[in-house]
Amino acid sequence: MCGIAGAFNVPKAAEETVMALHGIQHRATDFAGIVTSDGTNPYPYAGVGVVRKAFEVEDPDKILNKLHGRHSIGHIRYSTAKRKKDDKYRNNTQPILGNYGTSWFALAHNGNLPNTRRLKNLANNRTMATNMDTEYIVRLLEQRQTGDFIKDLAKVLPTIKGSYALGILLPQMLVAVQGPHNNRPLCLGKRGTSYFICSESCGLDNVDAEFVRELDPGEILCITKEGLSSTFLPATDQKRCFFELNYFSHPASVVFGRGVEEYQLRLGAMLEKYCPTPGADIVVPVPDSAEMIAIGYATSGASGRYHKAIRRNHYVGRSFIEASQAKRDTTVANKFTFTPRAIAGKSIVIVDDSIVRGTTLRRIVKKLRHYGAKEVHLRIGTPPIGHPCRYGIDISTYKELVASRLNPQQIAEELGADSLMFFPLEAQKELLGDPQNFCYACITGEYW
Ligand code: AMP
Repeated sequence: MCGIAGAFNVPKAAEETVMALHGIQHRATDFAGIVTSDGTNPYPYAGVGVVRKAFEVEDPDKILNKLHGRHSIGHIRYSTAKRKKDDKYRNNTQPILGNYGTSWFALAHNGNLPNTRRLKNLANNRTMATNMDTEYIVRLLEQRQTGDFIKDLAKVLPTIKGSYALGILLPQMLVAVQGPHNNRPLCLGKRGTSYFICSESCGLDNVDAEFVRELDPGEILCITKEGLSSTFLPATDQKRCFFELNYFSHPASVVFGRGVEEYQLRLGAMLEKYCPTPGADIVVPVPDSAEMIAIGYATSGASGRYHKAIRRNHYVGRSFIEASQAKRDTTVANKFTFTPRAIAGKSIVIVDDSIVRGTTLRRIVKKLRHYGAKEVHLRIGTPPIGHPCRYGIDISTYKELVASRLNPQQIAEELGADSLMFFPLEAQKELLGDPQNFCYACITGEYW
């Protein structure tokens, strides 16, 4: 997964873009990059790791002071292609710079383009400087060069299949593109005469910008000193990612027209309705991402009261992205702290947003048993993820998906739980309300 933030007509564009990237840091932690414009020249910078680390390699002011101009585009990346954080892969950062006539553009992408072979043909087999699918969009744009960038964009993008929300910076223009499938979120913000774009509205808050709206499906939004103008790509089915709402996006954000926090509370209440646990003592979230779901679960029905008996150590990184199972196990072990007094003798409902490999819950169930839990029941706020995601969420192989091998009963046994229930797909659709506008490929294997 990735995140985009951009600024137009801002006194210190680099600094504020970095602030907005901080606000969406939960979306990606491997790399951070930025390109600014002083109206003529581009000033690029990219680093490895979370935004703070990437910009603190030297004195952060030293870096930011070299990134001149009032306009910028920034990107945080969570590599799905090559998972290595060392400098060898530094060229796999975004925004990617391209040539346009005698000028330039810088492009940042959130999403994934599954069919790279087809893209390679379209790009006339040009050698790529990176191993990111995004580079194909840049090269295809470079091939057109009619002199009208927006028209070229509107011609190139319909030839590309897959998931994309884009931020593109030109010397005097910031462009935001929502792909016609509307698969990843992207929104517009405003502060006085300054404009911002961001993957999630929570990032706008960091720069005190007001959330204006989300982009519409297929919208190409141009921001120039003359103001805003939009053109549209040909319409098609919407394939919004429901996992953005269930797990990925920040509760403070508005995504696909929903307040994420309110949505997750409702999800929790519906999870309790469809998967109750009568007689349970306490409902414990897997922190942090399942907290709203657990509150929703505990405050409706009679399946136990909310108790935060597991806390997350925020100094430990993400377990999910570690390269080996041994490393993932160690990171999970360091990530959670349990309150033994709250656990002993209790019948416990553990609420998590999803199961991928099962690493997190295996550890949690083991620790709860160790601390004397009477019963451990797992309730999961997403239907079983049995298929890899081809559109930008890092769930990439069947081998690693426990739900592709085992049924819920078998998963419960493997994890050592007394019971396990997943949010049913029909409940998920009921919760969404307009289920026809969403993608369920990771649940059903129906790709588009
Ligand atoms: P696992 O421990 O492998 O079963 O992964 C599931 C846990 O990781 C859940 O607690 C989720 O909150 C989180 N998670 C699910 N999908 C992803 C993802 N694509 N990237 C990072 N974390 C994830």
